[in-house]
Amino acid sequence: MRRVLFYDANIFTPLMGSAPSSGKKQGEVVVYERGALLSENGFISAVGATDDVLKKAGGLELDLEVDLGGACVIPGFVDPHTHICFAERREREFSMRLAGKPYLEILKAGGGILSSVDAVRRATEEDLYEITLENVYRALSLGTTTIEIKSGYGLDTESELKMLSVIGRIGRGTPLDVVATFMGGHAVPREYKENPDAFVDLLVKEMIPAVARQGIASFCDVFCEEGVFSLEQSRRILEAAKKAGFKLRIHADEVNDLGGAGLAAELKTHSAEHLLAAGISNLKAMAEAGVIANILPATAYSLKKPYAPVRKMIELAVPVALATDCNPGSCFTESMPFVFGLGVMNMDMTVEEALVATTLNAAWSVGMQEKVGSLEEGKQADFLVLDGETPAILAYHAGVSPVVDVYKKGVLVA
Ligand SMILES: [Zn+2]
Repeated sequence: MRRVLFYDANIFTPLMGSAPSSGKKQGEVVVYERGALLSENGFISAVGATDDVLKKAGGLELDLEVDLGGACVIPGFVDPHTHICFAERREREFSMRLAGKPYLEILKAGGGILSSVDAVRRATEEDLYEITLENVYRALSLGTTTIEIKSGYGLDTESELKMLSVIGRIGRGTPLDVVATFMGGHAVPREYKENPDAFVDLLVKEMIPAVARQGIASFCDVFCEEGVFSLEQSRRILEAAKKAGFKLRIHADEVNDLGGAGLAAELKTHSAEHLLAAGISNLKAMAEAGVIANILPATAYSLKKPYAPVRKMIELAVPVALATDCNPGSCFTESMPFVFGLGVMNMDMTVEEALVATTLNAAWSVGMQEKVGSLEEGKQADFLVLDGETPAILAYHAGVSPVVDVYKKGVLVA
């Protein structure tokens, strides 16, 4: 038994309810001033006012006592939407975009998502692992202790399985909890350009069963968008995945309102992503179905696009989570502090709402709410020590990371 007492911390945490936090609850956070936390074998056995925690710890043999000197402590970030497993960066394409080059010209110059597909297909599993590992450790140092990682740059059975194998190894080889998502429906590969329905057939008949057989992904995701997968194709993919035992999520209504948010509500997916163009009635349906909106403000930043209407969503009682969307094309960042800041400064979220969105709701979004996302008895002792008095430091001290120490299961990992 490894028993560690952390004391003299200003602890800010949301509290678990029976559903993701929405509406008024989106901004509900408790504060234990000069509080304490007792970790036993990586799990929280007491947290709250110091006297209460000491009562619980009284007479127990402690392996370590850590004086946090009045610092602000929050739960470890849960990043619920990333494409952080990729083989090559696309910095040149970013520069072309900044220079105002049209997307078609970028494609002709070898850019775009299919260049990421080429790179992953070419890469050895070892290379892909090394590059992903470096990205994921950067995320950990910025406070991400649980991360969702999608496949979707392979787009053939062998390469998708290679990606998911790497993602599994990242989970076993780092301190992070990793949630793997199969996203063979991320784009239509070149060889199926003339016949995308045949690619949907391949997904449904070969790839989804192959991934299910290996048991290496818990979620299935699809990019429902004009020029990618239609609403009907998305439905086919998600229904097949559901039958095969996957939990679901969907990239919905990012550019055009195809009704992806409505499909998310109908299928009761765990989350729907992006949602910039989602219609009000479909957002209401999401709220009723308890589907979490995974909002990706760093993508809006990177593409110089408008931000998602988060205030409207909170008003409609859609539970909101925030994620990096870390990927080599539209948004290259591993930083949840950056995303937190964008949520507060550019989407008018309160600090408390952003805290719930980056921790507890994000945990619900990846099905990890019983283990992570808040500092409560029975959960993993995953928490961050910040260089500030309150979580507001994450928006206030812009452009740097106020994350000083990262604890995973009660152990200092970054
Ligand atoms: Zn995405």
